[in-house]
Amino acid sequence: MKYKLYNLVNYREIKQIQKLSDEEIFEIEVVGHVLPFKTNNYVVEKLIDWDNFKSDPCFILNFPQKDMLPPKFFNKLSKAIKSGADKSEIAHIVKEIRQHLNPDSSSQTHNIPEYAGEKLEGTQHKYKETMLFFPAQGQTCHAYCTFCFRWPQFSGLKEIKFATKEIDSIIGYLKNNPQITDLLITGGAPMTMHADVFELYIDKLLDANIPNLQTIRIGSKSLTYWPYKYLTDDDSEQILSIFRKITSKGINLSFMAHFNHINEMQTTECKSAVKKILETGAQIRTQSPILNNLNDDPDMWAKMWRKQLNWGMIPYYMFIVRDTGASTYFAISIERAWNVYREAFSKVSGLCRTVRGPSMSTVHGKIVINGISEINNEKIFTLSFIQAKNTKLVGVPFYAKYNSKAVWINELQPAFTKKFIFDE
Ligand SMILES: *Cc1c(COP(=O)(O)O)cnc(C)c1O
Ligand code: SF4
Repeated sequence: MKYKLYNLVNYREIKQIQKLSDEEIFEIEVVGHVLPFKTNNYVVEKLIDWDNFKSDPCFILNFPQKDMLPPKFFNKLSKAIKSGADKSEIAHIVKEIRQHLNPDSSSQTHNIPEYAGEKLEGTQHKYKETMLFFPAQGQTCHAYCTFCFRWPQFSGLKEIKFATKEIDSIIGYLKNNPQITDLLITGGAPMTMHADVFELYIDKLLDANIPNLQTIRIGSKSLTYWPYKYLTDDDSEQILSIFRKITSKGINLSFMAHFNHINEMQTTECKSAVKKILETGAQIRTQSPILNNLNDDPDMWAKMWRKQLNWGMIPYYMFIVRDTGASTYFAISIERAWNVYREAFSKVSGLCRTVRGPSMSTVHGKIVINGISEINNEKIFTLSFIQAKNTKLVGVPFYAKYNSKAVWINELQPAFTKKFIFDE
């Protein structure tokens, strides 16, 4: 298959779009003005069940939905578009709405390390052992997830300053910081990079013989959005040979695959791509946020983890979706997230119970919800950090007052103490 991109400009060319009513098409148009919209021929032809598109997870994953905007904003924008308002007026409304969708939540501008007196733009070093690297050429995706917290950068609202070409300084920084064992190459989706570019980075990293660099991780949604990257693209063999180069050097290659729903694993292409990657000696770990309207079903999670395990992958993280963009549509309560996790976890064998969560990625670290208990007649959440900037906090239980509606840590109050451990 040859890649064909669909976005707001040409999505009407998708022949299955005829199944939508005029009203439904218009809704895509309206919301697509605000949230980035991009899909491709693989998703359209192989993943989406167009006979049931309204509730189809892969449709919801890519196509903007009316309810992803608060009604008053949807109405304001749709009125403007219907009445033929001029471009600048629409742009003004779009800008206003985006500002209300909490575009700054992703906090990618924190934790930027310095090397030789300069900020290492395009990197992030938050947790002791792991450095993130956002290669400039990987800051897009083969399609855009409607829940993505990086939407401001894809919609041009935020400059993608957070992307570097400077691998030499990264190598210097890694050498100066022997506590770093993992380099996580992420995006966007770094596997949108051509193998030639990827190889330049990897060759430099490997040639530098950095003794502390034990693991290279690659964050990727490509198994869902473009498995041909490992099968039939003109650089697919080259990609796999770069993977082999890493593993044969004795460096762990951990492919961090994003799967949001088991339907993303329905194609033979996906299965073959997984096999190809595993054959290079890489490991594949899987992760996803838990999302209202898309995957808040414990049976689905249990089935998905089992299938991942059967294909040779390792379930790793379940996240709680961040408070940005279409979060009103996707957010579920902390309590519900915990219940889905627990129920799914209880249905799988121990080999799938490598998955941790549900976890919130906060400025302080990854906070996992361990459960709901009652202590001294007070109903509480018990929480702990599975990853923290301040390593002393890792694994220490702490408590919050039970709140059935809370969807994020900022809506919780400490229980038994005046402050949370991370506020002290
Ligand atoms: C999740 C995350 C990591 C990786 O953490 P692990 O627990 O090692 O998987 C690294 N950096 C940031 C900013 C993260 O959010
Ligand atoms: S693939 Fe990842 S970075 Fe790209 S839109 Fe989806 S969640 Fe965001």
